[in-house]
Amino acid sequence: MESKISKFRQRRYFFYTIASLWLFIMPWLQIGGKHLFLISFEKKEIHLFFNTFSTQEFFLMPFLIIFFFISIFFLTTLGGRVWCGWACPQTIFRVIYRDLICTKILKIRGSITNKQKGEKGGAKGFIAVALFAIVALIAASNLLWFFVPPQSFFAYLSDIGEHKLLFGIVLGFAAFLTFDITFLGENFCVFICPYARIQSTMLDEDSLGVIYDDIRGGAVYDEHKNLISNKPASGDCTGCQACVRICPTHIDIRKGMQLECINCLECADACSAVMSKLGKAPLINWTSLNAQKSQSKVKFMRFRTIGYIGVLAAALIGLVVMSGTKESMLLNINRNTQLYKIDFDDNGEKIVKNSYTFLFENTRSEPHSFFFSVDNENISISRPDEPVKVSPGKKAKIIVSLTSKANLSLENEHDNVVLPLIIKAYAVDDEKISVTRESVFVYPQQKFIDRKD
Ligand code: SF4
Ligand code: SF4
Repeated sequence: MESKISKFRQRRYFFYTIASLWLFIMPWLQIGGKHLFLISFEKKEIHLFFNTFSTQEFFLMPFLIIFFFISIFFLTTLGGRVWCGWACPQTIFRVIYRDLICTKILKIRGSITNKQKGEKGGAKGFIAVALFAIVALIAASNLLWFFVPPQSFFAYLSDIGEHKLLFGIVLGFAAFLTFDITFLGENFCVFICPYARIQSTMLDEDSLGVIYDDIRGGAVYDEHKNLISNKPASGDCTGCQACVRICPTHIDIRKGMQLECINCLECADACSAVMSKLGKAPLINWTSLNAQKSQSKVKFMRFRTIGYIGVLAAALIGLVVMSGTKESMLLNINRNTQLYKIDFDDNGEKIVKNSYTFLFENTRSEPHSFFFSVDNENISISRPDEPVKVSPGKKAKIIVSLTSKANLSLENEHDNVVLPLIIKAYAVDDEKISVTRESVFVYPQQKFIDRKD
């Protein structure tokens, strides 16, 4: 009787396809010129969930960074190196190069069930590298689309000379990727990738991992990791070494969990195929040390993971709340250094002037004309006298003068009076676009007004 064969490989390939398609399509998704995700250095803005944030709104970044790092910690605590086996581009590109191009298409590797020998060289080896270089070029372009929208990227293609840096980055990254995948291979995971080292500090006995069941299978190595016998004296392991031959990082998982293991589960599939012929359950499973010991299910909800969920939820709420407070336009107001100026209007009447610098930023994707009002009926706008037109994504700096009559009944006998102001700035062509800012108007001491005669 054959037991059910595990099919992690098919599931992984399915996941790779979905993840790759999603990454390919994602940069194209936009509504009204706003992308799902884009970091534009050219326009100094970030697009997130079809909202645009300018450099002045980078207060969102801490929430994004916290969310990103806590997600990785959480994922690792829960699923060990699940990222490496199921989503890491390095693993996906290695499958494309090693298993698809070299093994299936060009047949310069023996079999995908034996990853211990490299591919043959010669003309076919060269063709394999050339084919992968095309994949690398597409991948490098895809990566750049998260920084330069694909529509602009393809428009720039018609004038490469004007965008040498951009296409230099694409070519440089594609060249590195080709070298990494065709030459370094899994050595990158084992010797270079920092995540492999960091993740070991986040694992606990309940974290998911690829684990050999030495109680059922029998001990192959002693407690000092020295080989006792490839085929245990007692236990179900047949010593066939199918799990060793298929391992891309050239390790024997029967030695225990190791830094080199990228969680690809190829060994679990291989053992499952062998054991199913004997009517037995696989000896290599995707489980946790505790679950294996107690022959129970993996405990996902535990103190650490609940803690991470709490922090993730807080970062997500922070992100959503802060995104919701996004203003429809940006305005910075700075008072000029001169406190006030006493002057005369066209009728020869004494007036008090305060000057400010307004920095408008149009965060919308269409041009708008901005003007403003103040909430004090004694204060009027003497400059500018007409709205300021600002192009999409651009800023405009203007000098503003506010004026009051110099005969206000204020308690200014002994000192200047500081009048609080609410300034409402708005787009004259769209009533939904407005912001308010607090500022002050300084009204001088009476003796200074009297002196200006
Ligand atoms: S031991 Fe090797 S084959 Fe098994 S999951 Fe780890 S890397 Fe993959
Ligand atoms: S594939 Fe299974 S039976 Fe064969 S050596 Fe590995 S653990 Fe033992």
